Amino acid sequence: MNTKRLEGRIAVVTGASRGIGRGIALRLAAEGALVAVHYGTRRDAADETVSAIERAGGLAFAVGAELDSMGGVGRLLQMLDEELVRRTGSNQFDILVNNAGVGTSSSFEETNEEEFDRLFTVNVKAPYFLVQQSLGRLRNGGRIINISSGVTRIAYPHIMAYNLTKGALNTFTLHLAQLLGPRGITVNAVLPGIVDTDVNASWLHTPEGRKYAEGMSALGRVGEPEDIADIVAFAASPDGRWMTGQMLDATGGSHL
Ligand code: NAP
Repeated sequence: MNTKRLEGRIAVVTGASRGIGRGIALRLAAEGALVAVHYGTRRDAADETVSAIERAGGLAFAVGAELDSMGGVGRLLQMLDEELVRRTGSNQFDILVNNAGVGTSSSFEETNEEEFDRLFTVNVKAPYFLVQQSLGRLRNGGRIINISSGVTRIAYPHIMAYNLTKGALNTFTLHLAQLLGPRGITVNAVLPGIVDTDVNASWLHTPEGRKYAEGMSALGRVGEPEDIADIVAFAASPDGRWMTGQMLDATGGSHL
């Protein structure tokens, strides 16, 4: 079996400095892809992801841009163009993983307009315009994978505004799949449940929090970034060529 299913491919993973994005970057690089490791503010963490990929024999480079404004999307693409042309002679790439995202701890009642707008800007507006402005750069036969959330299937009203952003990402996935199908580009969303990353550390790393989270999954444990990365790798690979417009549950069977 060829384990390097992505040899010769180029992948862009947003929010790959930490957490799930880091796991995805490591996995796609292990499959042979050259990976652009995007970060927002944590250059140190992105450099560490790149080093981990290189230590494992893979290829990667870091690109930083905060995605809380349209200017950030433009800066990311400009940096990508420069880095890719320098490394490959062209600004084309094959796989875009829209993973960067922000969460909230505000309830429905507490959420103010500023927070609502921030959630939608980072989680919806940035992926929308990143895809729109990448269309001339993304090769035919490529892949777009949006990291959504299990909260689009499981009611969890405590973080309402965040949930709405992920619902929008699912809708984006469906319609984009139809739009880009003629180019052989597949578009899918991956919906993680609770994953052990920095956003959950404060409550998940307590005995009660851990027990609560483990109890949600039919498989009786908390998700790790690698659990999500493996599903993304399938969608990104040639084996995933006949699957598009799908919302792939990656919750370990939470609330079945
Ligand atoms: P995380 O550990 O907090 O990492 C978030 C990543 O996104 C970091 O690389 C961060 O970059 C980047 N990012 C955040 N805000 C940004 C901004 N304004 N501009 C640019 N980059 C920004 O999060 P995670 O848990 O891995 O989550 C990754 C994705 O999975 C998110 O879309 C999240 O909604 C989704 N998800 C997570 C879970 C979960 O339980 N963890 C469950 C379902 C869905 P810097 O650190 O460099 O700033």
